[in-house]
Amino acid sequence: MQPFTYTTVADANAATRLAVADPRARYLAGGTTLVDLMKLDVEQPTQLIDITGLPLDEITALPDGVLRIGAMVRNSDLAHNELVRTRYPMLSQAVLAGASGQVRNMATTAGNLLQRTRCLYFRDTATPCNKREPGSGCSALEGYNRMHAVLGTSAHCIATHPSDMGVALVALDARVRILGPDGERVTPLAELHRLPGDRPDRETTLAPGELITAVDVPPLTFAARSLYLKVRDRASFAFALASAAVAVDVRDGTVRDARIALGGVGTKPWRAAGAEEALRGRRAGRDAYRAAADAVLAGAAPRAHNAFKIELAKRTLVRALLRLESR
Ligand code: SF4
Repeated sequence: MQPFTYTTVADANAATRLAVADPRARYLAGGTTLVDLMKLDVEQPTQLIDITGLPLDEITALPDGVLRIGAMVRNSDLAHNELVRTRYPMLSQAVLAGASGQVRNMATTAGNLLQRTRCLYFRDTATPCNKREPGSGCSALEGYNRMHAVLGTSAHCIATHPSDMGVALVALDARVRILGPDGERVTPLAELHRLPGDRPDRETTLAPGELITAVDVPPLTFAARSLYLKVRDRASFAFALASAAVAVDVRDGTVRDARIALGGVGTKPWRAAGAEEALRGRRAGRDAYRAAADAVLAGAAPRAHNAFKIELAKRTLVRALLRLESR
């Protein structure tokens, strides 16, 4: 492990000033990704800026119906918050589907969104990886790629985004509040993560030193009946092979509106706009759900070991929609 300095801050602006001045500084919150990666020498920060003292750990219902989730809200607190459980059950379920109770007690909202891929080669410094070392190559393309993505991939990286929370939040049209040296800005969560393209090391649209301060979830009445379904190799502490976050507004048997996102198959939390479009105006039921699933996976690009994810993701989405319908 490389030597680094450690600084605590009590003010968000002070944190961003420190980070802007040192391009190799990293914010430290729950540490559930960063500390692991430092031990593996994948992350080699020169400075850790401990932001756990920042007052960003509240969940607040705003007058306009938005639910504001502070960046430092712990995953456990988010999952069990009464407003989250009643307004957006798929968000609570997604958080509880991730990691373990111990990890959720430490991990934070912003940290969850910014967690890095679990690609085996990314975490093994003895192997080429364009995300870890730009231009070195991608070991997963011809290597063992069973866990890798089939949507949003490039010739330079096929790593899956590991977040469950992000899948539910992107379906809910969440917005991210970001503080930087020039003040605060707000961006849709759908635009926070980049596709890998030819620079998989550039994972987000955050500028150097920018700090996520909160995530805003807009009101969505029909999200009170929503669901997150995750399929994985074991029942706990495993990343998704495929997952689906679904909320559907059905009236008189016809789908009026839908929010759908997929996890475990994309290089970022995957909003399934094509599936939503395919559902709107259709009679609710298995045929419509299967057509929606076909639509979102139509552009999938499998490798040697992960082609099974295409059918698995379709079945996961159909099952999630059928379960929701039966409630
Ligand atoms: Fe690295 Fe991405 Fe290839 Fe994995 S898939 S080895 S993270 S470049």
